Amino acid sequence: MHQKPDGDAMGSALALYHFLVKLGHSCVVVSPTNWASFLNWMPGCGQVVDYEAKGNRADALIDEADWIFCLDFNVLSRTKKMEEKLLNAKGERILIDHHREPQTAVFTYGNSDINKSSTAEMVYDLIVDSGNADLIDEIIGECLYAGVMTDTGSFRFPSTKASVHKMVHDLKERGLEHSHVHEELFDNFLESRFRFIGHVLLNRLEVFYEYNTALITIPQSDLVKFNVKTGDTEGLVNYALSIQGIRLAAVIIDRGEERKSSFRSKNDFDVNTFARKYFNGGGHFNAAGGFNKEPLDEVVAKFKAALKENEALLSSY
Ligand code: 5GP
Ligand code: MN
Repeated sequence: MHQKPDGDAMGSALALYHFLVKLGHSCVVVSPTNWASFLNWMPGCGQVVDYEAKGNRADALIDEADWIFCLDFNVLSRTKKMEEKLLNAKGERILIDHHREPQTAVFTYGNSDINKSSTAEMVYDLIVDSGNADLIDEIIGECLYAGVMTDTGSFRFPSTKASVHKMVHDLKERGLEHSHVHEELFDNFLESRFRFIGHVLLNRLEVFYEYNTALITIPQSDLVKFNVKTGDTEGLVNYALSIQGIRLAAVIIDRGEERKSSFRSKNDFDVNTFARKYFNGGGHFNAAGGFNKEPLDEVVAKFKAALKENEALLSSY
């Protein structure tokens, strides 16, 4: 899975893990980095190996592996420090992903489909298409549901095709308790996170109505002051996008070692290309991210210059 795994990365990986174990395979999930604590409830999460914390163990596992499933990312660099290890692994790499422009040359097999809502949905398809639908139990269902629900913004994005609802229907019939998943993911935050969000919306949000754009800039000092943990900044970009008239929203966070950005758009503004061109990133047409090594003020200046360059597209609303 990609670094700082989200609900879809963790959910799809754990669903595939439980499925492969049921088939009798020996299987371990490795994450390139740590993850948000709101994912810890997922069945099997406690056994996931964090590559940054347990590099030697993970290296040994990768050396031994016959098959390496790469889930929810398109380019190996999304696994950060694991990239080289994966590239030199003797096992076959298999891609299951729904991001644009996959690095196809480095995978032996794979399925990359930008029309899919989530990697979780693709893992579901794999299980069903392999004739093993009967192996889907409550546990696999919870992991798949967490992935598809988070990646579709709780079933609101246009990627929520009928196939998504059919899958959820099937998971419900197999015993899924969906309310439990929502509670674990959304009603489980510390007070400090909400104080942080309040501060950010009040003091760190800029709206450029001439470009129909909103930007949130977060200095590292805010992360320290509010004791911000991995995952606490997830979803901030959606507040900016939900302002009336806004069609491009961005969050730029100074994480110390790098400046991480998140972009969301509405309609025909392609943030995948935008993130690739200016922020060493990529993703989907309406949701993408990137990172920069330059200081925060330079990245913000770059963003503002990029708005000007894209003025014709952005202001035409
Ligand atoms: P987020 O803003 O939630 O971090 O990411 C939005 C989408 O863009 C996700 O699907 C994520 O996988 C992708 N993404 C985020 N950052 C990067 C990046 O640095 N490079 C690439 N290729 N994709 C990214
Ligand atoms: Mn995904």
